[in-house]
Amino acid sequence: MKAVQVVGYHTGLQLTDVPEPAIEGPLDVIVRIGGAGVCRTDLHILEGQWEAKSGVALPYTIGHENAGWVHAVGGAVTNVAVGDKVILHPLITCGLCRACRSGDDVHCQASKFPGIDVDGGYAEYLRTTARSVVRIDDSLEPADVAALADAGLTAYHAIAKVAQSTRPGDVCVVIGAGGLGHIGIQVLKAISAVTVVVVDRNPAAVELAVKIGADHGIVADGGHIDRVLEMTGGHGAEAVVDFVGEGGATREGIAMLRRAGNYYVVGYGENIDVPTIDVISTEINFIGNLVGSYNDLQELMTLAAQGKVTLHTTTYPLASFQQALDDLDAGRVRGRAILVP
Ligand SMILES: [Zn+2]
Ligand SMILES: [Zn+2]
Repeated sequence: MKAVQVVGYHTGLQLTDVPEPAIEGPLDVIVRIGGAGVCRTDLHILEGQWEAKSGVALPYTIGHENAGWVHAVGGAVTNVAVGDKVILHPLITCGLCRACRSGDDVHCQASKFPGIDVDGGYAEYLRTTARSVVRIDDSLEPADVAALADAGLTAYHAIAKVAQSTRPGDVCVVIGAGGLGHIGIQVLKAISAVTVVVVDRNPAAVELAVKIGADHGIVADGGHIDRVLEMTGGHGAEAVVDFVGEGGATREGIAMLRRAGNYYVVGYGENIDVPTIDVISTEINFIGNLVGSYNDLQELMTLAAQGKVTLHTTTYPLASFQQALDDLDAGRVRGRAILVP
């Protein structure tokens, strides 16, 4: 089969012929890829940022945002059958450790990460396991939802926590209406009754945020902290979801947070600089967010099937992987770039 592989760092990916993956264990599932999302993480992999962390042996097939059709199943697989349309949770998890038994797949003690430390989805077929496949509604197409497996799932994971810890009428500030923020806003409107206030430097992003459901859009032009404080009677928001995490976003975000409010960190890059006396005296909380669980992904697919979360995508044939990566790197992709084998 055709696969796009990492053959070295600081060098291009290569399209090559490799053997098709085969069923090796009773719970294995082989998926025929219908769409593989092209992610900024893929660029970081080629820059060598993941080399030491993943320890993956080269060459290997890249691509961690995958959806498609079940092609073959091991003898013990009962939850999917050949031909089913599925999206893949990004991790292959053991199901036996304490975290897995709590439904907290992300912290599995024996996980693998296709596209990062084993073969991923820039290929015709990929091997995963029964625990990682989520069946999707007939109305959804793999290429349309593939990118929700990572970016969308991360946004969902953070927003689901906001929905659980807020009440109708509370205010949630969303910092950053880019790729993740744009999914987060749709999820927030679908599963919670908070008032959604979106803050972004880019006026076009703010405009789009309001179009997809944000109650208020504020361009971050210097007066935005005061605007949020005015809107909340001087108290600040019950929740701030920070999809940026750099360039001063955390300092501004914390200034918009109410006493006992929750600050959800999703984007990253800078340090959070808060006097500890402020943390204890106001009882504000900082909450980290990695990717979501299997159940999070299933819930997100329910919203997608209901038409409540949609993703703008640009598709490329698998052989045009370099074009897709170049477009992403140059900021030319509208929504998410998807490779279709
Ligand atoms: Zn990704
Ligand atoms: Zn586990």
